[in-house]
Amino acid sequence: MAVSGRGPYDPQNVFAKILRGEIPCRKIYENEYALAFHDIAPQAPVHVLVIPKGPYVSFADFSQTAGEAEIAGFTRAVGHVAASLGLEDHGYRLLANMGAAAGQEVPHFHVHLFGGAALGPMLH
Ligand code: C5P
Repeated sequence: MAVSGRGPYDPQNVFAKILRGEIPCRKIYENEYALAFHDIAPQAPVHVLVIPKGPYVSFADFSQTAGEAEIAGFTRAVGHVAASLGLEDHGYRLLANMGAAAGQEVPHFHVHLFGGAALGPMLH
């Protein structure tokens, strides 16, 4: 079910549980500020999620309230994962759903990283 993308932060959301190690994920990479893992229902040959370790509900929340070191550490993690998976040669797509109209389902900010094939045009 889509979520508003606004607070308060729910510490029982599924990505919070992944960060605490309460449920598993197929981890690819982590640094001090971010964790990257394979999406459980991939929509491209490579479909990775990158999430900040801090409690941010959405991109709106993260971009407006995270510290500069967190934003830098998160952004570098996204770029590192894309490069380390070999996605740069053919290109890749980044996407973040913010709120109900965009179809955000998990109320912990995440970036989708799609690659590994020609992705075609965006539909919207
Ligand atoms: O952007 P949105 O919130 O809709 O995306 C949530 C994503 O989280 C989905 O692509 C879903 O497959 C993924 N997911 C996951 N592991 C879970 C629960 C959801 O990879 N345990």
